[in-house]
Amino acid sequence: MTNAAVDTDVLIVGAGPVGMTLALALAAGDGLRVTLLDRRPRGAYANDPRALALAHGTRQLLAALGAWNAAAGTAIHDIHVSQRGGFGRTQITREEMAVEALGYVMRYRDLAAALDARLPGDALLDRAELRALQVGGAAATATIRRDGAEVTLRARLVVHAEGTPAADADVTVSDYRQHAVLAEVRPQPAHGHRAWERFTPDGPLALLPLGDDYSVVFTVPPEKADALLAMDDTAFLAALQRQFGPRVAFTATSPRARYPLALRLRRQLTAPRQVWIGNTAQTLHPVSGQGFNLGIRDAWELAQALLAGPADAGDAALLARYARGRQFDRRGSVAFTDGIVRAFSNDIAPLRMARGLGLLALDLCPPARRFVAGRMIWGARAWP
Ligand SMILES: Cc1cc2nc3c(=O)[nH]c(=O)nc-3n(C[C@H](O)[C@H](O)[C@H](O)COP(=O)(O)OP(=O)(O)OC[C@H]3O[C@@H](n4cnc5c(N)ncnc54)[C@H](O)[C@@H]3O)c2cc1C
Repeated sequence: MTNAAVDTDVLIVGAGPVGMTLALALAAGDGLRVTLLDRRPRGAYANDPRALALAHGTRQLLAALGAWNAAAGTAIHDIHVSQRGGFGRTQITREEMAVEALGYVMRYRDLAAALDARLPGDALLDRAELRALQVGGAAATATIRRDGAEVTLRARLVVHAEGTPAADADVTVSDYRQHAVLAEVRPQPAHGHRAWERFTPDGPLALLPLGDDYSVVFTVPPEKADALLAMDDTAFLAALQRQFGPRVAFTATSPRARYPLALRLRRQLTAPRQVWIGNTAQTLHPVSGQGFNLGIRDAWELAQALLAGPADAGDAALLARYARGRQFDRRGSVAFTDGIVRAFSNDIAPLRMARGLGLLALDLCPPARRFVAGRMIWGARAWP
């Protein structure tokens, strides 16, 4: 098939941070025609309430793309990990890991805006939704709905970056029966660039330094999330204080938002002329902030494979190599987050004791602590 017979080489569906990262990374080469589309209006990310902990390795990838917004990120200098109602705690510091910061906290909207600002003006087709896909021998034909009309677009490769998938036969879903309640709260005293991960029987509670405030991920069963969202600010701050304990006082809060949490795993990362990356490939529990950090590595690795690969971006051998190459990082990240949630989200006394011993062992054993820290800083590269 000639170049003229397809409209684009790579069609990226979804201009979230992962889809935009891929588009920017591919722009570094000059051989591939790339089309990026999103069903939302450009800039709709401005309403997203999330703040993300970005690993040191993620910062380096964003910087390589010219999309690192230093002013929007708050450095994490140390992380304090403990469990409520049990002994054992550990602390990870930037000095021990010999890095400038263990990670950075940034609002999703600032991350998305920094990536968007690097896209050429006409690079994104917004308000354009993928409705159907047909794969023939040499191309995939996408049916796209835009401004009430349907158009078709022929691509050699379709990259799915649509974010968290609905349940379907290709996706396994394991519901954590936990919701994340999000807020930004003012601490007293100032946070001093310390992050807290506090495990409670309801689920993990994370405090991430963000500007002068803490971005709070308060994980609880769904019915408790209903109650937290219905509270006025004073009652919410009191509930947060009870869950966290007395070490930091909370004096003011933003409005709250919530996300139901489930582990969603796509069984296959590729199909003929298609590949899935970011949250649509795997949606993880937010504990220890792995989701986007894994998704950006998906995008980066795929871009490197495409830039070095054959002229046909949908080449089956290239896609198979990419999928094989991602397994280790993907499985490691899933096992790490899922293991933490399941081990810590209960109040069974012997398990509480075992967790305390685990935290104590981490505290007493620098190599183990450095491994856990490395996982958060570098992802798969933490493994020997
Ligand atoms: C509470 C919470 C806290 C988190 N904290 C962290 C953290 O600390 N660190 C971390 O690394 N990760 C964290 N994550 C995970 C992180 O938010 C995700 O991994 C990341 O946003 C995934 O990006 P994405 O681009 O794959 O998907 P998304 O951000 O969901 O973007 C998908 C895009 O695709 C578009 N789209 C969907 N369907 C179509 C279609 N049919 N046609 C066209 N466009 C379409 C959507 O409009 C959207 O813009 C957290 C998640 C939650 C819920």
